[in-house]
Amino acid sequence: MQITSLNVHDLQALLRAGQISPKEVIEALGRRIEEVDPLIHGYLSHDLDRAILEAQQVDVRLPLGGVPISIKDVINVKGHPCGCASEILQGYIAPYDATVISKLRSAGAIPFGRANMDEFAMGSSTENSAFGPTRNPWDITRIPGGSSGGSAAVVASDEGFAALGTDTGGSIRQPAALCGRVGLKPTYGRVSRYGLVAFASSLDQIGPITKDVRDAAILMNIIAGPDKFDSTSLDDEVPDYTVALEKGVKGLKLGLPKEYFIEGLDPDVEKTVRTAVANLESLGAEVIEISLPHTEFALSTYYIIAPAEASANLARFDGVRYGFRAKDTQGLLDHYGKTREQGFGPEVKRRIILGTYVLSSGYYDAYYLRAQKVRTLIRQDFATAFEKVDAIVCPTSPTPAFKLGERTDDPLSMYLADIFTLAANIAGICGISVPCGFLEKEGKQLPVGLQILGQELDESTVLRVAYAYEQSTDWHKAKPRIG
Ligand code: GLN
Repeated sequence: MQITSLNVHDLQALLRAGQISPKEVIEALGRRIEEVDPLIHGYLSHDLDRAILEAQQVDVRLPLGGVPISIKDVINVKGHPCGCASEILQGYIAPYDATVISKLRSAGAIPFGRANMDEFAMGSSTENSAFGPTRNPWDITRIPGGSSGGSAAVVASDEGFAALGTDTGGSIRQPAALCGRVGLKPTYGRVSRYGLVAFASSLDQIGPITKDVRDAAILMNIIAGPDKFDSTSLDDEVPDYTVALEKGVKGLKLGLPKEYFIEGLDPDVEKTVRTAVANLESLGAEVIEISLPHTEFALSTYYIIAPAEASANLARFDGVRYGFRAKDTQGLLDHYGKTREQGFGPEVKRRIILGTYVLSSGYYDAYYLRAQKVRTLIRQDFATAFEKVDAIVCPTSPTPAFKLGERTDDPLSMYLADIFTLAANIAGICGISVPCGFLEKEGKQLPVGLQILGQELDESTVLRVAYAYEQSTDWHKAKPRIG
């Protein structure tokens, strides 16, 4: 048995039974990383020595006792670098644990490695990392998706058991889909954002990327819940997400939104997703066509609101407080200017310029305020749909993984990669991507994801549908042949 090929629940069972030790797990992981990460580049850094020390103290009876977790480089882990894959945060060491990290630690997990990402989580391919892209384990000439591409790729290539990512417009679900793994974006406010470096505060959520649906439920049990350090976290009680898994889909109503089957959707992706939906139907779900009429405005709404919030959030990186500081500057403004000029990459600068523009006086009403109004309409679309259905099923990504470099010169075509995921963030609802098949391209198998969207705080239902689907297929068991 290959230890690193295990999922979290099987690994934890072996740890608890004393069949392997937490130290052996870290050592096996270290060997696997050494073997495959030179090809994948899923990690920016890791600290296996510290992980071994932590492993020696861990209580394996805890829910995640001895389980190493890979962490996107945007979440603070005390004593580890937290660089957001940006030059501007080089040298910054997190002085505290994010709430999700404290919760993972209390459950016995070992956060040990920094997963690569698009700089400040802006992107859909992980090519915006200042330290070079991550490669898709299913075909290393292709992107893993983004912005949590490192998190998805390390889980897909068995150099991680499970990972945390963040999803502002699709960055958990889309890379999970393109890497053939499970990715869950919780309801806005379900998981504390304390200790997450903010990109767009009204959209960001932390969530798990895992090898199967049960692992996603297990991680959610640990990380969800209210937090006095995050005023937007919701007070509602956290259910045991594993309880709903086995309930099946019989009697559930699933909505198929006609606006998600549009031009630009790869016909083979469409076929694969429709087959998956038919499969859910044969398992007893009732599938009905629904309409989310404002879907076509989601992309433009997102690309006003997200950059607006980013431009405010990223104002703090000025060379005074954190990380990188430009040399040989004259006076304060020159210091700010040169630090930001040298520290930020092109996509981050593009977002800051866009964001300050839509917030500037004279344009605020025409862009930002209008986008907020459309946001309300998009929310209402979902509210109306959820009066009729229990969950919505649709593709996660319009295409399978594309080639490295294919879209880097065309930001708009890059933005389209999240066309099916953005609306959930705009509305604040939850969603999951679960593997639903493969397309063959140039002799490689490329994963396709089925997206299941649920009402606010109804993670249990999306997990339940995803689990029922997963159990009826073998897609989640497939492993890439790397190289
Ligand atoms: N691709 C989208 C963007 O670039 C979403 C990113 C995300 O979810 N963090 O903004």
